[in-house]
Order: sequence, then structure tokens, then C-alpha cells
Amino acid sequence: VIVRLATYESESGPRVAALRNGSCVDLNRYDPNLPDDVIGLLQGWTGFADRVRHAALHGPSLPPGSVKFLAPVPKPPKVICVGLNYKDHAAESGVPPPEEPVIFCKFSTAVRGPADPIVLPRASREVDYEAELAVVIGRGGRHIPRDQALAHVGGYTCANDVSARDWQLGKPGKQWLLGKTFDSFAPLGPHLVTADELGDPGQLAIRLRLNGAVMQDSNTRELIFPVPDLIAYVSQVITLEAGDVILTGTPPGVGFARKPPVFLKPGDLVEVEIEGIGVLRNSVVAEGAGT
Ligand code: ZN
Repeated sequence: VIVRLATYESESGPRVAALRNGSCVDLNRYDPNLPDDVIGLLQGWTGFADRVRHAALHGPSLPPGSVKFLAPVPKPPKVICVGLNYKDHAAESGVPPPEEPVIFCKFSTAVRGPADPIVLPRASREVDYEAELAVVIGRGGRHIPRDQALAHVGGYTCANDVSARDWQLGKPGKQWLLGKTFDSFAPLGPHLVTADELGDPGQLAIRLRLNGAVMQDSNTRELIFPVPDLIAYVSQVITLEAGDVILTGTPPGVGFARKPPVFLKPGDLVEVEIEGIGVLRNSVVAEGAGT
């Protein structure tokens, strides 16, 4: 049985659920021994996995159509991002491939789910898309060795590293942080595939479609620094915690590198698809239009 984890919006706030063939089971309501939030669940995953599979099979399904899915991890403690991690994306950005990972971050206020729009801020005219594999940490740690790094992963999901290029590249000192962290610039989803179900994160097809047209089409085997290297590198500096999200970088085909450049506009539909995970689909709206 393939079981995925999701977070949905209940009257009492976000709650973790298991998905099985389109049905959605509230894990903690069926089995009070399970945590009601995804971070607690990932933290103790080895002890919970069998109970989750049992609940997914036998628990009552929430009424279909009534469930609003949030980001699989709605409030990650940290969102850590990797720049220029595909060789040909570095080339299209006009820089040599980096010798060490290039790390920046987003704040958790940027996180959105699969039902939410990307909001184009009034302060930017150059908002771009970036399809990325997102790694969600399960067991935290510091100084995690490369050969043990995957054991610290709780699961994987799709991400869009939405980027205001005029802030990221055009402001004094280059404002990578602000250009990447406008509210709504970190859509995640549609659900989480646990690490034990996905297996090797280093050979997954990854693509992005804008209004149905394929704009990015690559494979995570092209990552300059694969997932274990990123976890080892970052944890030299930072204590990784359960629920932290690492966006692993984007393949070539982003909008600003195209001739002529392509930027997001109201009414667009952006889809990030990763093999073995699913499709993260977000509409695009202008700030002020009900936001
Ligand atoms: Zn990126």
C-alpha cells in the first residue's frame, strides 16, 4: 500500500492525515497514539510507521471534496535553499558551477499549499518560477555524516522556489533573501512521500509546466550536490530539526534566462511535477485581488 502524508485544515487548525487511493484519514482521530501534526509524526517515524499504515487502511475517510490541503509542513522551522545546483542552470545564469553549495533561505511565512495561489507582489515586476525537489528532515542533528544523511530525511515533496529577479539580482548587494521570501513564494506539496517509500532521491524526473507548456525538464541525477552532500554540508553549520525543509535547487529553463524573458502574470497556472511524488499546481494572482 502506498501511503502519503498530508496536512489538512480542520476547524481546530492544521492536522496530519494519511492519503490512500484518494481517501484521506485523520491519523490522530483514528489512533490517538499518533501525533496530530506532521512534524511530531516525522520525528518519531520509525515508531509510528506501522500504526500509520494500519490507520490508512482501516481508518474512516474524511468526506471527499470537503478537505482543504495545506502545505505538507505548514510551518517549517527553517526553509533552507540551494542556489545553482544544476550545471546547466548555473550556465544559463551566467556563472560557473559552484565548488561548494550556495545556501540561502526563505522564512516560513512564504510557505503555501497546493490549494493556494502565488501572489505577485506590487513591489516586483519580475517574478519567476523554479521547480525543485524539497527534502523534509525527520530526525534532526548536527554534523551529520554524508553516509548517514538519508536516514535523517522524513520525506520528500515538490516545491516552487518562486523568485523576484529584480530583488534577487537588481538591488544593491543582491537581495537573495528578500527576493526569494515574499509571502507565497514557497509553495509546497501536494503531499509528502515518506523517505522509506520513495527510496533513492537521486534519480527522479523533475519538470515544470507553465500554462501547460514544459519549461523545465530534467532529473535529480543532474544535481551537482546530491541530497546527502547537502545535508552533510549544511549540518556543519546549522542544527537540522524535524520539519526543516531543504529546497535542492532548480534545473535549467527558468524564465529570466529565456530570450525574451518569461515572468509570471495573473491568471497563469504553474505545475511542478516530480516522479514518484506528484504534481504541485498553483495559480497566480496579483496582490490586492482578494489577497
Ligand atoms: Zn531555487
